[in-house]
Amino acid sequence: MVGDLDTRLRDAAMNWLKIRTNDGLESISSTDLLDFRFDGEPFRLMDPQRGIRKPKELAAALSIRTVYRPDGAKRPYEDEMGDDGLLRYKWRGEDLDHPENRALRSAMELELPLIWFFGVGVAMYQPIFPVYLLAEEPERHQFVIIPGAIRGLVDVTSPAESQLRRYVMAESKRRLHQPVFRATVMRAYETRCAVCSLAHGQLLDAAHIVPDSDEAGIPTVRNGLAMCKIHHAAYDAHIMGVSPDYIVKIRADLLDEIDGPMLQYGLKERHDQKLMVLPSVRAQRPDRDLLSISYERFRSA
Ligand SMILES: [Zn+2]
Repeated sequence: MVGDLDTRLRDAAMNWLKIRTNDGLESISSTDLLDFRFDGEPFRLMDPQRGIRKPKELAAALSIRTVYRPDGAKRPYEDEMGDDGLLRYKWRGEDLDHPENRALRSAMELELPLIWFFGVGVAMYQPIFPVYLLAEEPERHQFVIIPGAIRGLVDVTSPAESQLRRYVMAESKRRLHQPVFRATVMRAYETRCAVCSLAHGQLLDAAHIVPDSDEAGIPTVRNGLAMCKIHHAAYDAHIMGVSPDYIVKIRADLLDEIDGPMLQYGLKERHDQKLMVLPSVRAQRPDRDLLSISYERFRSA
């Protein structure tokens, strides 16, 4: 049975997170997470010691957590992605009856929404919510996770048609990977455009060097560049390129054009300049092989 308290608490937690993360645009620190209050009392949304948070007031788990892995080169989801494109969350240990695994199982059976805190830096998390536990794979000690928005599309008992399956995979990837990718890139670039150093998060995107849809387009920070909206669009449209040695190039015909300040300062004067912002951590800098794939496309466009 799901009580009124359970519903109110989950709603309150997710609404609060929505506001605090600017609708998912920003990540949140474990310290700031302590600000959450429920019915006037401080209430923990995440368990700092464990992966699974099961408040004693509730019949099922409220949140799950994945710790930050500082390796900038590794695919962040390698271990979690199943053949169906959906992500997995590991049990606590290997005991079927461990209280935390039971708390997850209850959330699955009662179809309750959970918050997934995905580590994107030391004590920094990108909350992804709501997510649901779709199924359990006891032999692999894990649960299958699905983003709330696409839950209705998946029927675990019958294999989805291939077209629907591709759509679910793409959507699942986008809804889970995109916020984590963005948060990781923004942190690496200290929320500044790599090309012009503009420092307003709401005007910035985490651009993929090689698109997500490409085989090479892995969702790691090394395939990312923080860019303002205009530079991101210019990059995707091959109006602007970035060479493997981090030099900005503007398409030749624009260099001859005379127009207002955006063209002059925003584009033409960036030509042949080095990227203004790069991650201080070497392992997080753009991958030169990925840049050269993208740069070739720019030059041949
Ligand atoms: Zn910019």
